Amino acid sequence: MENIKCLIIGGGPAGYTAAIYASRANLSPVLYEGIQPGGQLTTTTDIENYPGFENGIGGQALMDAMRAQAVRLGADLRRGIVSKADLSSRPFKLTLDSGEEVSAEALIIATGATAKYLGLESETKFRGMGVSACATCDGFFYRNRNVAVVGGGDTACEEASYLANICKKVYMIVRRDVLRASQAMQDRVMNTPNIEILWNCNTQEVLGDLSGVTGARLLRKDGEVFDIAIDGFFLAIGHHPNSEVFSEWVRTDGNGYIITDGKTSRTNVEGVFAAGDVQDPLYRQAVTAAASGCRAALDAEKFLNI
Ligand code: NDP
Repeated sequence: MENIKCLIIGGGPAGYTAAIYASRANLSPVLYEGIQPGGQLTTTTDIENYPGFENGIGGQALMDAMRAQAVRLGADLRRGIVSKADLSSRPFKLTLDSGEEVSAEALIIATGATAKYLGLESETKFRGMGVSACATCDGFFYRNRNVAVVGGGDTACEEASYLANICKKVYMIVRRDVLRASQAMQDRVMNTPNIEILWNCNTQEVLGDLSGVTGARLLRKDGEVFDIAIDGFFLAIGHHPNSEVFSEWVRTDGNGYIITDGKTSRTNVEGVFAAGDVQDPLYRQAVTAAASGCRAALDAEKFLNI
C-alpha cells in the first residue's frame, strides 16, 4: 500500500492552497481532486471579491491558476474520490472509489460542500432535464425561455441575475417575505425588470413531461396553489458539508461541519486537519477557504516535523 506523507482530499481553493504550502514545505503532498476538480468555484462566473484581481476573474480561471501553481511547486494531483476512511490509528487508511487503498501520515480534509435539493420526488425525476443546482453551468440551455430559481440568499440572487441576462423571465421562489441576501444583491434583483419574486411560496411539485420540466406547482402561505410555466428549475437553497466519509472519526456539528480547534485546522483526531467549506458554516468564501488551506498545511507541517 502506498504510504503518503501528507494527503490532501479535495480540489477547491482550500485543497489547492494546502498543496501549494505543503509542497514548499517539502511534505510531498498528494491531492485527490474528487468529483469536481476546481470545486464549487468552477460553477461561478466572475469573482469580483478575490483580492489581487482588479477587474475580477472567472471562477474556472482562478481555479486553473491555483491548480497550476500547486503542480508547478511539485504537488501530486490525482483524479479520484476517497470513499472510505479508517482514522482509528496512524498511518490513516483511505479507500478510493477505484478500490485502491492508500495510507497517510497526515491528512487534510478539504472536501467542500454540495448543493442542497428540496427532496421532492419530481425534482429528482427531472434532474438534468430542467432541474439544476448550477445556473452558470446550465443557464445557457434556457436562452429566451422562462425559468425559476428557488431561494432568497446571495446565491439565489446571483443566479437569478445571471439567468436574467440569458432568459426571457426569471421567477424567484422565496419561502418568506424577505430575502436573506446582502443589500447589494437584493438591490440588483429588485432592479432587474425580468426577475419576478414570488414571495411566501414553497414548491409542491416540479411539473414536466418526456421533454423535461414544463412548470412548477407552488403553494403560497395563504393557501393558494398555483402553477407557473417554466423550462428550467434552479435550486439555490444552500449547501451541505461533504464530511460523511470522515464523520465516524472526526467530530462534526449538528449540520455536519467538521469542528476544528480554535484558530487552528486541527480536528479531534491527531494528524487530521480540516480546511475550507467542510469546516466553515459561516464565511464560505474562496479567500477564506484558501486561507484555511494555508493554515491546514502549516499545522500538518508542524505535526509531521515534531
Ligand atoms: P443561504 O443559506 O445564505 O441562503 C439559502 C436560501 O435558501 C435562503 O433564502 C433560505 O430561506 C432558502 N432555503 C433554504 N432551504 C429552503 C427550502 N427547503 N425551501 C425553500 N427555500 C429554502 O445560502 P447561499 O448559498 O445563498 O449563501 C451561502 C453563503 O455564501 C452566505 O454566507 C452568502 O452570503 C455567501 N455567498 C456570497 C456571495 C458573494 O459574496 N458574492 C455569493 C454567494 C453566496 P430562508 O432565508 O427562509 O432560510
